[in-house]
Formats: sequence, C-alpha cells, structure tokens
Amino acid sequence: MSQALYRKWRPARFGDVIGQEHITRTLQNSVAADRVGHAYLFCGPRGTGKTTTARLLAKAVNCLDEDLAERPCNHCVNCLAINEGRFLDLIEIDAASNTGVDDIRDLRDKINFAPNNGRFKVYIIDEVHMLSTAAFNALLKTLEEPPPHAKFVLATTEEHKVPITIKSRCQQFNFRLLTTAEISERLGWLAEKEGFTIEPEAQAMIARQGAGSVRDAESLLDQLVLAPGDEITLERAQMVLGTASDTAVAELVDRWLDKDGAGGLALIHQALASGADARQFCRQMVVYLRELLLLQAGGAELPLDGTPEQKEMMLIQARRAPREGLIEAIKRFSEAALTPAISWQPQLPLELAFVELLPAEPLPMPPAAAVATAAAPEPAAKPAKTKAGTKKDKSPAPEKETAAAVAAPAPDPQTAVPQRLTLGAVTPHWREMLSRVEQVNRNLPALLTMGKPLATEGSTIVLGFDYPIFKDKFDQLPDGVQVVGDIFSQLLGTKCSVRAVVTSEYTIPIQKDEFDALAEELGGVVREE
Ligand SMILES: [Zn+2]
Repeated sequence: MSQALYRKWRPARFGDVIGQEHITRTLQNSVAADRVGHAYLFCGPRGTGKTTTARLLAKAVNCLDEDLAERPCNHCVNCLAINEGRFLDLIEIDAASNTGVDDIRDLRDKINFAPNNGRFKVYIIDEVHMLSTAAFNALLKTLEEPPPHAKFVLATTEEHKVPITIKSRCQQFNFRLLTTAEISERLGWLAEKEGFTIEPEAQAMIARQGAGSVRDAESLLDQLVLAPGDEITLERAQMVLGTASDTAVAELVDRWLDKDGAGGLALIHQALASGADARQFCRQMVVYLRELLLLQAGGAELPLDGTPEQKEMMLIQARRAPREGLIEAIKRFSEAALTPAISWQPQLPLELAFVELLPAEPLPMPPAAAVATAAAPEPAAKPAKTKAGTKKDKSPAPEKETAAAVAAPAPDPQTAVPQRLTLGAVTPHWREMLSRVEQVNRNLPALLTMGKPLATEGSTIVLGFDYPIFKDKFDQLPDGVQVVGDIFSQLLGTKCSVRAVVTSEYTIPIQKDEFDALAEELGGVVREE
C-alpha cells in the first residue's frame, strides 16, 4: 500500500467523520447558514478526528459551490487543492515542533495580507497547548483583533494547558473517544474499500487495540495488509501486532486471583515466546482489567465481541476480584506499559507488575517441598512447620526433609491414617485439583473458582465461598464433595475430606489446640525452640 490508509480514506465530508456527529452537524449548520466563527478550539484525545474536522472546515469555508449546504463539495478548485494538500491559504502549524514565539510572530506579520486564492486564510494550530507563554500572548493579540479574512482552529489533546484567555476567544468543541464498535465498523468499511477480507475476531481485536482512536486502529490495520485480496486472520494480527491472545490475558487475571505466581509467570513467558510484545501485553491487561472494574461497578455491559465463554469468565472474575486489588492492578500494568523497555530484559516490567500484585509471602513452592516445609496461615503457629515433616526432630536441614518427602513413596490414601492438614500444604495443590476435577466434571472447576481453601480442620479441608449461592450450588452437586475430597486425597497422599462454608460466616479455628496436641505428640520438641 503506497499511502497510509488513514490518509487515503480521510473523510472528505462532515458526514464521513465517525463518532463526532455532535460537532460535525453543528459545523455543517454554521457553514450552511454562513455563520462560521473566527476561532475554534478542538479538544480531545489523539486520533479522534480533530485535524480532519479542522481541514473539512477549512475546505467548507473556501468551497465555491453555490449551495452552502453542499460545502465542501470536493469538486471545485479550492476543494481539490485542499484535498491534494496544495492550498496556500490553509496554514497548518504543529506547535509540538514549533514552540517558539517566532512562528506566531510570523503568523501575525502575514495574517493581514489577503488570501491568495481562497476567501479565508485558515490557520490550524495543532497541539496548541505546547506553545510557550510568549507565543500564547502573541496569539492572543491576533485572536483579539483578527482580520475578517482569517479563521483559526486550535487543536489540543490537553485542554487544561490552554490558557483561559485563549479559550474565552474560541468556540470550544470536545471530541470523544470512539467506541470499539464504531472503530470496528470503520475497519470493516475500509477492508471492503481496499478489497481485502478480515476475520471478525481480528477486526474486533484491532478495534480494541485502537483504544478509542480511529487513527491508531487504521495504522494497525495498515501494518497487516500486505496485498490486495489478502485475508487478515486473527493469528496473523496477533503475530504482527505482538498481541497476546485474549485467552492469555484472561488467564493471567485468573493466575493473579489464584495468587499463583509460578503459573502466572509461566503464562507470561509462554505468551512472549509465541510472539506477544511485553508492553502490548501490559496494555491489554489494562484494557481487560478496566472492563472487569466497570462490570463490577455495574457501569458497563459485557463487551459485545466476546464469545459466550469469555463473557462468562469475565463475570466470574469481576465477582471474584477485590475492588482495591483491581484498581491496584490497573495502576501497576499501566505503569509497566509506560516503562521504557530494557533492551536485554524487555519482559521485566510486565513480570514485576504481575509479581508485585501477589501477596508479599514467598510464592508457593513445588508441591513436594511445600508439603515438607509448609507453614500454617498464622505466623504465630510456629509448630505447624514441623507437622508435615514427620515425627523427626526439627534440627535436620530442611533440604534433607524435602529430599525424604520426595523419595518416600506416596502412601495409599485409602489405607493411610488420616493426618492433620495445614492450609499451607493444601493451597499449592489447588490448581492441580481444579484441572483434575475438570476431567471428572466439566462444570465443577468454574464453580470451584468462586471459592478457595480457607482453613483445615484436622483432615478436613474447608472451602470458603464468598457468596452463599455458590456454596449451596456446590453442596447440592450429587458428587461434588466426594470428587474434590478424593482428588485432594490423591494429591496430598492422605485421606481427607472437604466441606464448604460461606467465607464471611466462618471463623478460622484457633491454632492453639492444634499446637498443644502437636507439642504433646512431639514430646516437647517444639517447646525447646
Ligand atoms: Zn468545493
């Protein structure tokens, strides 16, 4: 493609500008009534159509069509000259690159000369907030006494940086971010015009990546089209744009909610290995987490473009995630997205953002080691440390215990004497249990993710559910308790059972009786500490 899509298909009429009808209609009416103001201030995020609309206005006021309502006509010499970028009376100043007062002085010096071939000289000052104070003052003088043949359109992404004295001389219009649906529709239209096909999933993904900016989305599309007649698949889009799959993003949120550090990092590495870009991944996380937050606050509908499974997963996650946690996560990932990549460790900001969201405790160790050295949830309950480490004296090095635990054949859970469990020993097996459950009952894992191991009572694992409805649902399953109990027995190598409770109604048992019983069992070893 020789010309960028967004340039090639830049709207030629007010009606072609998408998503800003509240502005284009007003401008169109002013043109039709021949009451165009002398200064406008266009505010709004990048890529939402400010400059495009400014050029349309420049074209409309210089159009030669006799029917005012038809301006810009795109046929007269002036319209054509502007469309081809060779109209001398349209002067565009990019304040981001010309911050000096000289450019505005130059503007002031020349503004009094009559237009060359148009009726109006139109000055478009992009990123006007970048002007220096001196330049603003010079501009203000011009705005106060403009010659009748001059029109100004000031555009800015940062309205608050534009002095009030300037604002008060302008008619202000606020451009809004476009919705994903609006951008997606535009991409579909472009694809049709350019003669290539695009998978709906790819179209939705690119639209989402645009994050409200139609120009950004069109630039992304540009990178993907190699030749006319191309088909843009989701796979290609993900590859070229370095986008992680939607599944990876949703799953990373799951890992975070499960406090599964190792699983989350593995997932990140897997996504990066298959071509995802780390900063892009961070941005996707921000977009996704924001949607969860809005869902949770009841302020949003589910995204229209997701599959039913994705929508269900989002609902579950929105219910599970603590609100402060979500806000914190959005902050972390947006910071990470803005952190300049370190060339030799580009994934580091992403990894750090994820790890920093996890509780401060060390990550769960691999199962065998975790059983041997598992700590009880309460730091005060020191003796728990020795509990799983058989009845030996505590003095041997932990490595030895770990090795012994690994080497020892797992006792048959059906015949072994039930052991007292600790939460620390159970939690590391939670994910594995979920994946094994899935093989027995496909619907059970989704329900179980609404709960988590809360405590242990002897050889019983207490599963806490935040909402009574999920606890009841679990209890009502004909074999839910049995299946989960059996799988945990297998995983822990000891006979155990499970019972469900509502988290807020459950008091975690005091560890003291456990402490005493254990102290007695160990013959005072614990007290010697
Ligand atoms: Zn015209």
